[in-house]
Order: sequence, then C-alpha cells, then structure tokens
Amino acid sequence: MRPFILDPLCRALNVLPGVGPRNLKRLEKLTGGEKILDLLWHLPIDVIDRRSTPKIAEAQIGQIATFIVTVQKHFRPVKRGMPYRVWCTDETGSLNLVFFNARPDWLMTQFPEGAEKVVSGKIEQFNDSFQMVHPDAIGNIDELDKIAIYEPLYPLTDGLTNKGVNKMMRAALEIIPDLPEWHDGGIIKREAWPQWAKAVNSLHHPETSQAVMPEYPARRRLAYDELLANQLALAMVRQAQTRKKGRALTIDHDLRMRFFDALPFELTGAQKTSLADIDADMSAPMRMLRLLQGDVGSGKTVVAAATLLNAVSNHLQGAIMAPTEILARQHEETFKAWLDPLGISYVCITGRDKGKKRAELLRQIASGEAQIIIGTHAIFQDTIEFHNLGAVVIDEQHRFGVHQRLKLSDKGKGVDILVMTATPIPRTLTLTAYGDMEVSKLDENPPGRKPVDTRLISNDHLHNVIDGIKREVEKGTQIYWVCPLVEESELIDLAAAEDRHQLLQNYFGDKVGLVHGRMKAEEKDAVMQRFIAKDISILVATTVIEVGVNVPNATIIVIEHAERFGLSQLHQLRGRVGRGAAQSFCFLIYQGPLSETAKERLGVMRASEDGFVIAEKDLELRGAGDVLGTKQSGLPKFRLANLEDHKDLLEMARDEAKLILQKDPKLESERGQNLKILLYLFERERAISFLRSG
Ligand code: ADP
Ligand code: MG
Repeated sequence: MRPFILDPLCRALNVLPGVGPRNLKRLEKLTGGEKILDLLWHLPIDVIDRRSTPKIAEAQIGQIATFIVTVQKHFRPVKRGMPYRVWCTDETGSLNLVFFNARPDWLMTQFPEGAEKVVSGKIEQFNDSFQMVHPDAIGNIDELDKIAIYEPLYPLTDGLTNKGVNKMMRAALEIIPDLPEWHDGGIIKREAWPQWAKAVNSLHHPETSQAVMPEYPARRRLAYDELLANQLALAMVRQAQTRKKGRALTIDHDLRMRFFDALPFELTGAQKTSLADIDADMSAPMRMLRLLQGDVGSGKTVVAAATLLNAVSNHLQGAIMAPTEILARQHEETFKAWLDPLGISYVCITGRDKGKKRAELLRQIASGEAQIIIGTHAIFQDTIEFHNLGAVVIDEQHRFGVHQRLKLSDKGKGVDILVMTATPIPRTLTLTAYGDMEVSKLDENPPGRKPVDTRLISNDHLHNVIDGIKREVEKGTQIYWVCPLVEESELIDLAAAEDRHQLLQNYFGDKVGLVHGRMKAEEKDAVMQRFIAKDISILVATTVIEVGVNVPNATIIVIEHAERFGLSQLHQLRGRVGRGAAQSFCFLIYQGPLSETAKERLGVMRASEDGFVIAEKDLELRGAGDVLGTKQSGLPKFRLANLEDHKDLLEMARDEAKLILQKDPKLESERGQNLKILLYLFERERAISFLRSG
C-alpha cells in the first residue's frame, strides 16, 4: 500500500484553489498527469529577476525592474491602432505605461489617478521618456514583496498564464509533506543536496537564476531521486530473477560442431564471443537474462539457434518468439535448413494456425515432441503449455517491458532468456531500460557485405529518382519506397502512402504494392509474401517494413521526407537493403530548406553505417526521449532527469542500487523503508512485489 505520507501529493489537482473543471483539463494537458505531484514536477524553464527596484531616473534601458509609481493621468488613444497610455511618476522622473487593445474600464480600476502602484516589466525608451509596454506584474504597494522577486517562468499551454500557474504552484507547495531522506548521508553531504521538500521549493521559489540549470544542486537531487527509483526497481526485478534458480546445462560441443559444420559460413568473432557469454550463463546454476544487441544483418539468428540447441541437448525445449507472423515464418525457413540435417524437430505456431492444425501443434508442444518452437509473441502469452521449456529467445524486441519479459519466463521454471534487439540502443539508454542486464554485442558484420551507397536528394529531383528506378526495375531489381512520416496522424500517413502508390502505379502498373499500418496482419503479410516472391517490384510502405524482413534481392530503398525520421529509424530502414551480393542504394529524399541540425543528422547517415555510432549521434543531436520513440520502445521517460546532463547520476544510481540491495535485499532497514517511499513516489512500486515473490 502507498505510504500515507504521500497522500497529499497524490491528491487530484482540483483540490487547489482556482482549479475548476476547465483549468483542470488544461493542467492535466500541461503536466501530463492528474496529481499535485505532476504539477510540482512541472519545472520552470527560466527565471526572471524582478528584484531590482530602482527609481525611474536610475532605470537602465532594456532592464527588467520593479517600480513604485504614482498614477498621474490616463491618455486614451486618439486613433485606432494607437496605444492607451497611463502616465506615472515617482520623485525622480516619469514613466508611461503603454497598452494595446486594453479595455479602458479595466485600466481605470487598475490605475485610479493619484494611486500608488507597483509595476514590473521591461524598461524602454520612447522619444525622450521611459515607457513600459504591458507590465508583467501590477499590484498595490503592499504587494511589493510578492512582485519584486525571482519569478519562475513555466512552459504553458493554451488558456493558462504564467501568473496562474505560479499561483497554483504556490498553493501546491503549501501542502507538500516533508519526506524522510532516502539517500545515503554521504552522498547528500558530498553533493550538498537539499532535503526533498526544500529541493522542490527551491526550484519553484527560485532564489537565483541558476535554479533552472541542470547542474543546480536541487535539480540534480530530484534527477537523482528519479534515476535511483528507476535503477533500484530494475535491480529489484533482476534480483528476483536471478534468485530463482536456473539449471546448470551441459554444453554439447559435439552437437555444436555438427551444427557449425553444416553452415555455409564461418561465425564472426563477435558471434563466437557472444555465444561464449551465453554458454557461460547457461551452464551456470542461475537463469540467464542476457541482451544480445546486434545491428540489422549482424547475424543474430544463428546465435539464437545455437542458444536453443543448448536447451535441446539437455532434453529441454527451446522457443523463439518473433514480433510478427512474417518474421516467424522466415525463422521457420531458416531453422528448417539448419535443424533438419541435425534431426531436431521443430514447429512454427502463429495466430493464423486455427482449429485442428492448432490443436495438433499445441499437442506436440505439450508432449515434448516439438523440441524447438518458433512463434509470434502473441501465442506465448496465452494458452501454450510446454513440456519442459529450457530457453527462450525473444527476437527483435525492444518493445517489451521488463515485466512482460518476466511474465514470459513464468512459463517455465528457471528458463534462460536471451533478448535480441536490432535497434542499437545507446549505452545510457540500455542502462535505463535493462538496468544491469548482461549485454553481448554483435559489433562486427559478417564478411563480404558491401556498404550501402547512401545519397541525399532534394524533393525537387524526385522525377530523376523515378527515372533511375525505371531502369533498375527493368533489370529485375526490387525496391522499397518508404513514405513520409507524419507522427500525429496515421490517417495522413496513409493518405501520403496511397498517393505515392498511385503515382508509382502510373509508371509501373501492377508491379507496385502497398503496405501500411492500418492493414490487417494477414493483408500485410500477403503483400509482403508477394514482394518476397518477386510478384511485386516496388513495395510502397509506411514504416511497417521496419522490423527484420529479409529480401536480399531488394537493393534500393527510397525514403521520402527523410528529415522527419529519427536516425535510428532511418538506419533500421536502410538495413532492409545491402543484404545480397549486388551494390545497394539508399536514397534519402528531403524537403528543403534543412535546418543545421537536420543537415548534420542526414550527414551522419551518409557518413556511417554503424548503428551504434548512429544511435549515439542521434542521442547527442536530439535528446534521449526522442531517439527511439519512448512509447513504442518501452523505455522509461524521465521527467526530472535528463540523460544528456545527468549521465553521471545515472551511473551513480546504478552502482548505488546494487549496493543497496546487497546490504538490504528486502529493504527492511530504516533507509530501506524510505527507499520504498521513493519507489512509490515514482510509481515504481510494482518492483516491491518482487521482494516477496521468488
Ligand atoms: P539479424 O541480426 O539482422 O537477425 P540474420 O541473422 O538474419 O541477421 O543474418 C543476416 C544474414 O547474414 C543471413 O542471411 C545469415 O545467414 C547471414 N550470416 C549470419 N552470420 C554470418 C556469418 N558469420 N558469415 C556470413 N554470413 C552470415
Ligand atoms: Mg533477425
């Protein structure tokens, strides 16, 4: 249960004064949440210094300052479009307050003639007098203390003013509890971090313009809170995972040699090293939980097969799950060639297998007749009963959360798990998503692969591209044509793809096919199958072709509006070609003019084919949140930490999380209790249940 002390922070935003149904909607949109805490985590992006209270004669042009003035006289506009002026003075000079389109009656009540007022804003010179256009703050003389401050500036949304958000924030700060310290005393002292409530206060009630900098101590503290919650949760899950005993398998080198001898190629060094890591994991009495990162085409499948064979030679079943039907079928074909000569039985089961066929497949899996099971992940989630599952490989999956992976492993006791991802994830991000999961990298491509010739082409020259493609199609080349990505709307994506499909049909008739995200899986697969069978020469697609398909005869990929794609995504797309012996091309069509960053990003695509280099560069140029598209990647999104500025804290948090669990594996100490509060604060409480299980 959530600790009571957090209750005030978890109350709905409409308990704050001034938050009715309308403002509630706006606040929810602004903060992405519904709780007081969500508002508190909406941090200022800038701080305005209004502390200076000079006399008018001492004012500096361009300076933001706060003045105490006496209202002298109102001057209404004489012509339309002219401003309304309120002439004010102090004992040293005069200052005109200038308003455009303001309501005179409102101005009369704000500035009664003869009254003393406080105004704050930027001082400008007009002819030879001072003026202030639309003061940022207006108040009575007793409000000077509230106005002459460092004012935090918040990101806003329609219908909310900075003043309004400030007011609600102040009300929220009134009710925040003092939370007990969950950090180690030594760290707090070394970093000179304020205690939690103080830190939150000092960001929203800044006393220096430094308060918005990522290196400001209070900011770093909150960032560290978030990162530690993330790393601790991952470490707890992992602890539960490895605490469950695995089996110590015996590696059958004889079977391994027979498998390798039948392959038409020699393993790369990276494949051998990764496999040695896997062998070591599997022969140890703990369960394996390893991530195999390997760029598209780096040869993960053969490593997967060898992993599954380790299970089979120990009289256990091995399973591999693919994200789509088509990839499952592709694996089936590959495995057929590899397993038949070894006399090992396998089945492939997907959502398409129904009725009698399905029942028979399920029977073979349950009886153990099927030694290796290939399938889509959907089928692993429901009713499959294994005879004795020993190892699972999850292919092309970074879209899986940690918890889902664990659920899967519940299918068998002590099952060894290998997760394979083709998306090169920068190291920092790996850490946040997988914690201290062991990682092997296939950072060396199989030999003989020709680099893809990547070219940037302006949209104005699209017709040249089409002409060039015409010659190629006549030679039998196959082509991917990827259509603009419009993130907000799948429908618009679709319209663009359909338009392009039609245009290309004008040139190429029925040699053009179309796949998009709105098609049913079977329809998609049918089109893909026609492409694989060479019935279709040009495959127009939205990004659905992203994952894993292998059509070596396709040697050209055209990507429209390349500037709108993430680099990792472009890299994935480009990986569709360059799989055969012929020279491949990637045409990145862009719509100019390009920003400097866009130029640099597309330049990276030309310069490198190394997915890891590209991913790191992407992280640098865009920021972590965007690199993979947080939503689909299953990577956590941080609200207080930002991975570029707080990288050091992330590593600190990882080490600290490990240490915490070593000393206090069940979080029972006083600090352990406080750390549980931290986990609840960041909604990582699901990890707590792993303290009990296992
Ligand atoms: P991915 O890592 O993208 O899943 P695959 O496992 O599909 O890559 O391998 C891509 C291609 O490279 C396949 O045709 C595979 O047979 C081939 N391949 C894998 N390893 C090697 C190797 N060591 N030498 C040559 N070709 C290899
Ligand atoms: Mg693959």
